[in-house]
Amino acid sequence: MNLVLVVNAGSSSLKYQLLNMDDESVLAKGNCDRIGIDGHLSHKVPSKGVEISEDVSFPTHTEAFEKLVEVLTSGEGKVIDSMSEISAVGHRVVHGGELYKETTLVTDKVIEDIDALSELAPVHNHPNALALRACKKVLAPGTPQVAVFDTAFHQTMPPKAYMFGLPYEDYKNYQVRKYGFHGTSHRFVTKALSDAMGKPLSELKIVSCHLGNGSSITAVDGGKSVDTTMGFTPLDGLLMGTRCGSVDPSAVTYVMEKHGFSAHEMSEYMNKKSGFLGMSGVGSDNREICAAAAEGNERAQITLDILTYQIKKYIGGYAAAMNGLDAILFTGGIGENSSEVRGGVCKDMSYMGIEIDEELNSHTRGKLVKISTENSKVEVWIVPTNEELLIARDTLAVVSENK
Ligand code: ADP
Repeated sequence: MNLVLVVNAGSSSLKYQLLNMDDESVLAKGNCDRIGIDGHLSHKVPSKGVEISEDVSFPTHTEAFEKLVEVLTSGEGKVIDSMSEISAVGHRVVHGGELYKETTLVTDKVIEDIDALSELAPVHNHPNALALRACKKVLAPGTPQVAVFDTAFHQTMPPKAYMFGLPYEDYKNYQVRKYGFHGTSHRFVTKALSDAMGKPLSELKIVSCHLGNGSSITAVDGGKSVDTTMGFTPLDGLLMGTRCGSVDPSAVTYVMEKHGFSAHEMSEYMNKKSGFLGMSGVGSDNREICAAAAEGNERAQITLDILTYQIKKYIGGYAAAMNGLDAILFTGGIGENSSEVRGGVCKDMSYMGIEIDEELNSHTRGKLVKISTENSKVEVWIVPTNEELLIARDTLAVVSENK
């Protein structure tokens, strides 16, 4: 078996999947949660129907990896005899800055660079570096680790798309620019869509809508990201679960003054108290917003209207940017499941020749399906994302290139 362990580490969590790349099946998956707080493990072995849920002490990522080794190699969650059976480990790394434009084999220098980029992504990159170091300690000697960057796919954007209107020195001295995120997902779903459409990516102009707790839309022209809605951080662009998305920068400084917030407090306010949650007063979950709107809750309805209106505007804007549009795709928890959001976005888009099958849209969830009609000039698809699989595929490819 050709086994790849995929790791997605956060500041207090370590999500993992062990994939058998011979048939791309998931042997085991789970999460070491509450690292640095107390610690909890959830571990699943889908083929055996085994589910383990256990409180464990995780003072740091190292203890979490030690537990992961234990649960993968012993007890009822066991799927391998030893860690030496794992061919490689693929890590999701949030920020690659301008340094990492593609998936990269991890060396000590790469880990140092990832840690240094923590200045741009403090919440994410430092834990990624911690996980890379901790993982190295528990792997069989010589097991390669690979970093797959969330920003890498967007490194093809031209300066006109990624520069801000701040003084140029801020770009030169502090690397202030749009980076874009969710790159792994946008790359996976656009490739899956081109396969489903039976057309090469190089011939397609796609607007990829990844809508989840965090949401972003990317214009993908000929397989390359040419613009995207998230920016210097994942806060920019669309209204999200708890993130505000784009707002006038002067409104930010004004609200800071009114509340007496520090920069950190304002950042927390925009990241954790805004979006669906702050707008609707109902919650951060799209299901709650849709249910409340259906019951006549006005703020929930406005929240939904803002979201669908913003998505519509980006689709129109990106079609203009690419001088054409072949397909729109929806992915992520909301994109794959919410017929209300998809329907709201595609309504009144006849000027672009977009027409969806309402019936199909209303009862399709989480499946790779075309929901546009045969008359529609632009195809509209639901494409389930699978970032772990892409990370595993990339990991194998990079390891074999470097053999
Ligand atoms: P994350 O960005 O954290 O990965 P997900 O992609 O899992 O998030 O998306 C979470 C969002 O998907 C939530 O707003 C949730 O309400 C929404 N969602 C999940 N299932 C459904 C569903 N059946 N109908 C509508 N929305 C859904």
